[in-house]
Amino acid sequence: MDRPDVPARSRITGAPAAPAGHSGMACWICSRSVARFEPYGVPPRPGRCPHCGAKPRSRALVRLVRDRIRPRLAAGDRVLEIGPSRFSADHVIGSRLFAPARCVAVDVRRRHHHRRLGAGGRFVAASAAMLAFADASFDFILCNNTLPYIREDRRALAEIARCLRCDGLAMIDTHRHPGTTRTAHAHRREHPGLGGDWFAANGDAWVYGEDFLDRVRDAGLEPVEKELFPGAPAEFFIANGLKPRVRALFGSRHRSGFRRFFGPGAGERPRVPPGSGPPPNLLPPV
Ligand SMILES: [Zn+2]
Repeated sequence: MDRPDVPARSRITGAPAAPAGHSGMACWICSRSVARFEPYGVPPRPGRCPHCGAKPRSRALVRLVRDRIRPRLAAGDRVLEIGPSRFSADHVIGSRLFAPARCVAVDVRRRHHHRRLGAGGRFVAASAAMLAFADASFDFILCNNTLPYIREDRRALAEIARCLRCDGLAMIDTHRHPGTTRTAHAHRREHPGLGGDWFAANGDAWVYGEDFLDRVRDAGLEPVEKELFPGAPAEFFIANGLKPRVRALFGSRHRSGFRRFFGPGAGERPRVPPGSGPPPNLLPPV
């Protein structure tokens, strides 16, 4: 099948995905029909868009922000991302996805893809363990699978808690593996068969275990794990190249933070009547 080229920075249309082929699969980011999502990661698993390269969790993040987080933000609110990926620079923190909130991104050094964040002070070179921001200055903080790369991760979590407003929310999602948390160095010794690409994909400082939530609580954040597409039918996950369940971990200083973004109010979408079943590309309520 011929597939037209798409620009590296494909536009998030906000519209339902383009009519898909017979399989009914399509990508939320570039809206192209997808005959088959490509394998990616270590070990490889299907889920990457063959057109724009968006991975399943990246696609889910965009829908989370667009449908759940942004509707709870007002002009003047502030969003911080710690260690934005290339995808986020293109489609999340570097896009208009959080508008009308003001966004800023930090990383220990300016990388090539950070240039896409543009002028206007939206990028600050800073350590996550020592954020140069006032107490309680952000409404939403995005720290998406970044902590396993930060050696001073406890200090980074404490800084997230310090910089978060009382009714703010942080997304602090990360891989968690069986067993207890260990350094990446110790994990490498225990599993000599794992190559450098595994640590590049999963974290080169920490391999978090089931006790990760204790670290979050120690930093003064109350962790809450949330299903992002509760009640969606199995075909929804298949059609959108997602795992059967998509969960993300959030932390707030006070329950009002979680309530602000996940309680009833703006951002709620009408539920599909029972039995009618949404088409595969229609997002159910988060
Ligand atoms: Zn795509």
